Amino acid sequence: MNIEQKVLETLKKIKLSKKDKIIVALSGGKDSTVVAYFLKKFGYNIEGFHINLKIKGYSDRCLEAVEKLCSQLGIKLQVYDIQKEMGASMCYLRSGIQERAKTAIKNCAICGVIKKWIINNRVRQLNADKIATGHNLDDEAQTFLMNIFKGSPNLSANLGAISKNIGDSKFIPRIKPLFYIPENEIRKYSKKMKLPVVYEKCPCALDSYRIQVREFLNTLSDKDKINLIKNFEKLDNRIQKTKDIRVCYCEICREPSRNRICKKCQLMRI
Ligand code: SF4
Ligand SMILES: [Zn+2]
Repeated sequence: MNIEQKVLETLKKIKLSKKDKIIVALSGGKDSTVVAYFLKKFGYNIEGFHINLKIKGYSDRCLEAVEKLCSQLGIKLQVYDIQKEMGASMCYLRSGIQERAKTAIKNCAICGVIKKWIINNRVRQLNADKIATGHNLDDEAQTFLMNIFKGSPNLSANLGAISKNIGDSKFIPRIKPLFYIPENEIRKYSKKMKLPVVYEKCPCALDSYRIQVREFLNTLSDKDKINLIKNFEKLDNRIQKTKDIRVCYCEICREPSRNRICKKCQLMRI
């Protein structure tokens, strides 16, 4: 099966409707670019959303790639400028939090939480039915393994080609059309199709635990990674039973949260 057929099969499996308004979270990287390309090619109703993190030089190249893609696909693009909206670049916000924190918090842990908050908050304002992200097989295998290494397999309860979040209207369901596609295949395809992609790594992704897990997984074959995900799917019913189903609204920002104060607000008030 080629990449196109595999993506089509995933979309069929998650029963994605052509009536849904889908916002693709575009980073400028190969994965989210390929997601937008396929969804548009298959006739879905999509728009792009990009967070300009204002990471020196790198973010300019990402924004340029995303603008080029949206113009080539003929889709609308919303850009969230972190400097304008939150008053500072991601690097500035992150280093402030790290300096004030009592324990070490890694770059991607902070950036990831803030980006997730922005995406859910803004995409809801755009009246979207779904958020599509570029997560691929390698990302998902990493997450599954990281949760096992941390001794918290229950954290994998929301893993899957479509999120299984509690039916809260403030949570926009997330879909991952590349859930079963190895990173290698996506890279090859984006190059073959000459899509506008920033291939350089984010300069802030230096200390992530995920990188260590990724390096380990890269010693395995794509077949092993697929088997890992298939095993996760076999265990999924049991993992679902361990899921924390509490949901409330953050006392500060009113976004849905598992705790009184959401992770983003906890970080921002450190
Ligand atoms: S690699 Fe890490 S720091 Fe860079 S954009 Fe992604 S989450 Fe943020
Ligand atoms: Zn909050």
